[in-house]
Amino acid sequence: MNIHEYQGKQILKSFGVNVQEGIVADTPEQAVEAAKQLKIDYNSDWVVIKAQIHAGGRGKGGGVKLAKNLDEVKQRATDIIGMQLVTPQTGPEGKLVSKVLVAQDVYYPGASETKEFYISVLLDRAKGRNIIMYSTEGGMDIEEVAEHTPHLIFKEEIDPKVGLQGFQARKIAFNLGVSGVAHKEMVKFVSALYKAYEATDSSMFEINPVLKTSDDKVIAVDAKVNLDENALFRHADYAAMRDVTEEDPMEVEASASNLNFVNLDGNVGCMVNGAGLAMATMDIIKLAGGEPANFLDVGGTANAQTVKAAFNIILKDPNVKAILINIFGGIVRCDRVAQGVIDAYKEIGNIPVPIICRLQGTNAEEAKKLIDESGLQVYSAIALKEAADLVTKVLAEQA
Ligand code: GDP
Ligand code: MN
Repeated sequence: MNIHEYQGKQILKSFGVNVQEGIVADTPEQAVEAAKQLKIDYNSDWVVIKAQIHAGGRGKGGGVKLAKNLDEVKQRATDIIGMQLVTPQTGPEGKLVSKVLVAQDVYYPGASETKEFYISVLLDRAKGRNIIMYSTEGGMDIEEVAEHTPHLIFKEEIDPKVGLQGFQARKIAFNLGVSGVAHKEMVKFVSALYKAYEATDSSMFEINPVLKTSDDKVIAVDAKVNLDENALFRHADYAAMRDVTEEDPMEVEASASNLNFVNLDGNVGCMVNGAGLAMATMDIIKLAGGEPANFLDVGGTANAQTVKAAFNIILKDPNVKAILINIFGGIVRCDRVAQGVIDAYKEIGNIPVPIICRLQGTNAEEAKKLIDESGLQVYSAIALKEAADLVTKVLAEQA
């Protein structure tokens, strides 16, 4: 689950990670109040106003602006709140900004130079271990750094038995080229960051940039925090940070019905039990000349309620030209699923696209009979090949 920058920073701070101090605001008036609370001395310091959306590249899109006094705070907040912010990560339609983070400008001049770094913590699935990935090239798009100057990206592998070791944190600070007070600060920063990553059950932290300030503090200026959804039951306070307005509405509805759903671009909706079978079904759809419109795993219990919820979600997609139901009756009996399909169909009423229903497993024959005798626009199949041919046929009829 993704959360906003301001929420990520709250979490980091609670684990002793130094962050750029800021206050979130929903309106320009609140932004001014927030700036007052930050007690900025505008003779020497400024404020930064940052759009809060679940996408990076906000700086490039005009979602990060400096303000040199309270009037400018109000002006910038007015400009940003309500804007449709387009960044390299949002797609051309952009994302509506409804909150801004009002934060202290930390790029102030001082005794030493400011320097931006990149630090992320993530799971390396191939190694089965967490790694800290870091680079001297902070504040830039890390994909570009990886492409053009891969030797400037370092990785430190963490042994889960002992966690991040002191020598590893010092090596990271050394490779980043910080010395003196900043070295100590960086060691502290990296250690706290790794502790926070483990304790929060996160799947990714990406802090870009990590800033060494001109007075040798090390702080998180940005925070992309991705929490492992499967561990949210252990963190009720983090679960409450979910912002569904940032997510695909179809996926939000699906998760409310406990369906495992991913929206895709194709023309054949599918309803399957089990993730592996869902993947195989998507392959079959391609083989039949279609493109999957979604990934949908209804889970172990495919009853009339889950089938109905699944139908309703798939039918919201205007690209869907056919629906393939592919359910294996192992734990659940095929005839019960068939009855569920028939009941759901009757309850919804007029389903405008053909349905191919392939039920295999316990009581498959009885299930086919139920479907065939229902009088509804549902084609039945038992063999997978049969189902694939039916998909090809109904798509051809509509072409
Ligand atoms: P992103 O573009 O979505 O990754 O948002 P960031 O939080 O990383 O901000 C983008 C860029 O804005 C950073 O790389 C900084 O260069 C700049 N920036 C962020 N905060 C401040 C600040 O307090 N002062 C100044 N001068 N620049 C900032
Ligand atoms: Mn950033």
